[in-house]
Amino acid sequence: MKPPGATLGVLGGGQLGRMLALEARRMGYRTIALDPTVDGPAGQFCDELIVGSFSDVDAAVRLAERSTVVTLETEHIALPVLQAVEALRPLYPGAAILGTIQDRLSQRRCLDSIGVPHTRYAEVTDAASLDVALARLGQPAILKTRRDGYDGKGQVAIRDAESLKAARALLHQQPCILEAFVPFEREISCIAARSLDGHFAAYPIAENIHRNHILHATIAPARISAETARNAEEVTRAIAEGLGFVGLLAVEFFVLPDGTLLVNEIAPRTHNSGHFTLGACATSQFEQQARCIMGLPLGETTLFSPAVMVNLLGDLWLDRTPEWELLLGLPNAHLHLYGKAQAKAGRKMGHLLLLGSDIDASLRTADEIVR
Ligand code: AMP
Repeated sequence: MKPPGATLGVLGGGQLGRMLALEARRMGYRTIALDPTVDGPAGQFCDELIVGSFSDVDAAVRLAERSTVVTLETEHIALPVLQAVEALRPLYPGAAILGTIQDRLSQRRCLDSIGVPHTRYAEVTDAASLDVALARLGQPAILKTRRDGYDGKGQVAIRDAESLKAARALLHQQPCILEAFVPFEREISCIAARSLDGHFAAYPIAENIHRNHILHATIAPARISAETARNAEEVTRAIAEGLGFVGLLAVEFFVLPDGTLLVNEIAPRTHNSGHFTLGACATSQFEQQARCIMGLPLGETTLFSPAVMVNLLGDLWLDRTPEWELLLGLPNAHLHLYGKAQAKAGRKMGHLLLLGSDIDASLRTADEIVR
């Protein structure tokens, strides 16, 4: 166990790193982040910031030298950087796991080998293999870049001749996989942690509502049967154990109308759909991540109150100032802002956590705030 006073290094300095730094500092740890921007969300809260890109090995080595243990808030970090860090300090999760997860194709093959159900897919490398894959998986289908995709970026839904042309253009730029389109009833995620000594703890399953491929709101607990929730937790446990994962992870699922679960993707880090844990649960996902990597016992994951988390995107700022008095005047609402200087459409600027047993009322409030 690394006691308080040790230094937690984090690769990445966005909002996930910021909330990790907040929680880790509360627990008495020092924090240091690596990020390309000087005044980013985490840099404002860490004891130290190293400015460098996610492919800058020298900068990452400097971070590792000043850290006791290193973790990350984004999986989009160059493998040589991860390997250089791991050669110097414990890195959780490790470079080999991250290498597997960074590439959608190797992530899918890994899910195959663990034996959990996930979306049907095919590797595609050129127009000919795309045609073969489309014939097998049918239309609509979704072409996704193997690397660096998030919030719907690097994806094309193939439905007609025009979108097929766009898909071919994307494939020309980057290797991709094709996924069968899943006619899901809802999307859920399981936020869980696995400790150094192999203990596993999952939070109550969360339900996620996306708009334009970006998470709009999370409902906890998800409106699913106890059996579906248990299955999602067991699949997540199988993935964490199969990978030999240490740290905090999120597994996103599609739920079909008959309750069947299909894994959509794994995030090897804290997750936007786990923000409800900070304010609604005994231990936040960020404290849990710190506990995992510092070798502390895992915290309780009990949900104290049903919750709705709604993302506040930059769109809210574009033509007016958000109505702070209204937001802050809501009963049982907790505002989190990430300290980003510039608002842009689709950019995550903050979130609002609405606590209370009336989920429908919270969802209505969320929709009034974010129309
Ligand atoms: P991803 O970045 O892969 O998680 O995709 C972002 C969102 O796009 C998901 O949360 C779904 O709402 C939608 N999506 C992605 N893949 C599929 C699929 N195979 N079938 C249906 N919807 C999908």
